[in-house]
Amino acid sequence: MAPPNYDIVIIGGGPGGLAAGLYAARARRRTLLIEKGVVGGQISLTELVENYPGIESINGFDLAQGMLKHAQTFGLETRFAEVSGLERRDGLWLLRTGEGDLSARAVIVASGADYNRLGVPGEERLTGRGVSYCATCDAAFFKDQEVAVVGGGDSALDEGMFAARFASRVTVIHRRDQLRASRILQERAMANPKMEFVWNTVVTEVLGEGEVTGVRLLNRATEQESVLAVSAVFIFIGQHPNTDYLRGLVPMDDGGHVLVNDWMETDQPGLYAAGDVRQNSARQVATSVGDGVTAVIAADHYISNHFPD
Ligand code: NAP
Repeated sequence: MAPPNYDIVIIGGGPGGLAAGLYAARARRRTLLIEKGVVGGQISLTELVENYPGIESINGFDLAQGMLKHAQTFGLETRFAEVSGLERRDGLWLLRTGEGDLSARAVIVASGADYNRLGVPGEERLTGRGVSYCATCDAAFFKDQEVAVVGGGDSALDEGMFAARFASRVTVIHRRDQLRASRILQERAMANPKMEFVWNTVVTEVLGEGEVTGVRLLNRATEQESVLAVSAVFIFIGQHPNTDYLRGLVPMDDGGHVLVNDWMETDQPGLYAAGDVRQNSARQVATSVGDGVTAVIAADHYISNHFPD
């Protein structure tokens, strides 16, 4: 087989992939990072990151751009393409992408996670017409209007408070009577005069013809139905890992998260998983960065041991 195109290919340009890119490039490994969408992944859609050590407060997109530039300074190559499959061939990894095949000595899977959908009538039809999974991107379109947020985690509150900068009122609809979000975000959201909370309630339908006019609600405790008139609904009910292209190749849990050991090694030689794609990730920027770095250190040792040239 021809020599590999790269020592290390990183799939995914979120914080885990970008940190891996920095370390791999600094280890003088010929490294390519492949991203199918926006560099930064979920973090590029986060208004404020305030929990990355050493940086008090930064816009998520800016943080991701800073990480990319940093890694490129040391020689990281990047390409925009989607990886559709991965196979082992002659001791190397062959990656199938929309832009052709590539080969690598080691591969780090850092393809992150995508937003979950509610799966209710009207959601898909009105996506982009008032249904959104990114308040940071879309809230400005709903200035002085009433909007809803679905979910009770950090994303729902973080993005809900961003939406409150524009909206006249933000109603958070949560399926339980307790939020999952961190205390500090709960305190801030509760103190925000524009934020209201509807408990024990699920959205059963998104209403509207050409654009969102409201949501149909069901109170799970009382079984009472109601309609809340809103111009937009922002949905933050968790994510699922982007690992479909790895099915059958590596062991995963029921949620599709890749199983790895402490060194981010899968059960395949030279194949690593880092960040939201792996089982038991804490799903933080800082932990994804740590995963990416750990994976590169392991990959670097693997390459030194198996390709002594
Ligand atoms: P999450 O923590 O998994 O929260 C998802 C929320 O959606 C939960 O409240 C859940 O309800 C609700 N939910 C799930 N499925 C639902 C459904 N079908 N219908 C209605 N509600 C549903 O997800 P996340 O908020 O996106 O956060 C993901 C990770 O990123 C977390 O580790 C979080 O700490 C981190 N994050 C951090 C920040 C920050 O620190 N600023 C910002 C964003 C995200 P239950 O509570 O009932 O399960």
